[in-house]
Amino acid sequence: MSDNNRNNKPVLVTKSSMPSFEEYSEEIRDIWDSVWLTNFGKKHNKLQEELQDYLGVKNISLFVNGHMSLELCLQAMGIEGEVITTPFTFVSTTHAIIRNGLTPVFADIKEDDYTIDPASIESLITENTSAIVPVHVYGNLCDVDAIEQIAKKHNLKVIYDAAHAFGVTRNGVGAGCFGDASMFSFHATKVFHTIEGGAIASNDDKLIEELYRLKDFGIRSEEVIDGVGANGKMNEFAAAMGLCNLRHVDEEIEKRSCVASHYRNRLSKLRGIKLSKIQPGVKSNYAYFPVVFTDESGTSRDEVFEALKQHNIYSRKYFYPLTNSLDCFEGRFDVNMTPVALDVSKRVLTIPMSASLEADVIDEICDVIEECVK
Ligand SMILES: *Cc1c(COP(=O)(O)O)cnc(C)c1O
Repeated sequence: MSDNNRNNKPVLVTKSSMPSFEEYSEEIRDIWDSVWLTNFGKKHNKLQEELQDYLGVKNISLFVNGHMSLELCLQAMGIEGEVITTPFTFVSTTHAIIRNGLTPVFADIKEDDYTIDPASIESLITENTSAIVPVHVYGNLCDVDAIEQIAKKHNLKVIYDAAHAFGVTRNGVGAGCFGDASMFSFHATKVFHTIEGGAIASNDDKLIEELYRLKDFGIRSEEVIDGVGANGKMNEFAAAMGLCNLRHVDEEIEKRSCVASHYRNRLSKLRGIKLSKIQPGVKSNYAYFPVVFTDESGTSRDEVFEALKQHNIYSRKYFYPLTNSLDCFEGRFDVNMTPVALDVSKRVLTIPMSASLEADVIDEICDVIEECVK
């Protein structure tokens, strides 16, 4: 059925960036000399330093994945009781809270950039609240100033899920500099990746020390194990992938920016389609390209999802369902408490986004969407 240049090869919603085979081979060569494969090796330490520089943060603690880093960060900070968060996120955020024995309390999101709405946070604070876990979504930043104000006023910790925000800055300040700590994911589908991997960024040296111990089973010294930790360490092959990808990440983000502009040019003209707000002062990483289909569009998110699939193009209902409606929570939370998030989750589609997405494929995707809207 194909008359396109891609010979109808599938277009996936994300595509991992890869260094050349030669570059990666060169990077891992000395692992054969050292035979040091994991446990805070040379590659790990080098990546840690380079990321501190790149993200402009004081400390980085590297992990086996983003989820484990968030889970252990909440544990290390001794968070207790209730945590105010957003249901408009990947399930990992909510699971990390619940797996720490904490109670998530869900605030609503803003209609224009899909991040947690500070106006809905304060009324949810009780004497049991100890932290806020906001999520930077799609490469948009949360309203970090308003969140900081609320946190200061009520003496709450703030831990950002910054899995979508690698390399994002606001007025030159990196996403990892806000709150008490920020979690980054380096999963293969993210803007910067180490195959699997993650990190906590924080100014707090004590927290970083505690994380170092908790990601290594709680071992303090050979004979003293004084923390109930887990295994969260990043291995040398993952770190080597990170060292390679970091050399190219600026170029990757620049290419994503061109893809986003192309989409915007085509889609902003269409009736009933809402694109994410461009945030003043924020340099995005264009991690995802969300499109919201309002009633005026004359189509629906699910219809567009299916139409794209007919063309072998795979978009993602992201984030859908909301995490406060998941089967595993058996109706414990009320989705009607977060009406904006509920509405957006039914209308939003993230369409394919990667540095290597070609102009004719972008046009083809926009043609399919345009056809649905007509
Ligand atoms: C990817 C992601 C995570 C989890 O990160 P992993 O590295 O896959 O464990 C958490 N939160 C959000 C918002 C994510 O997108």
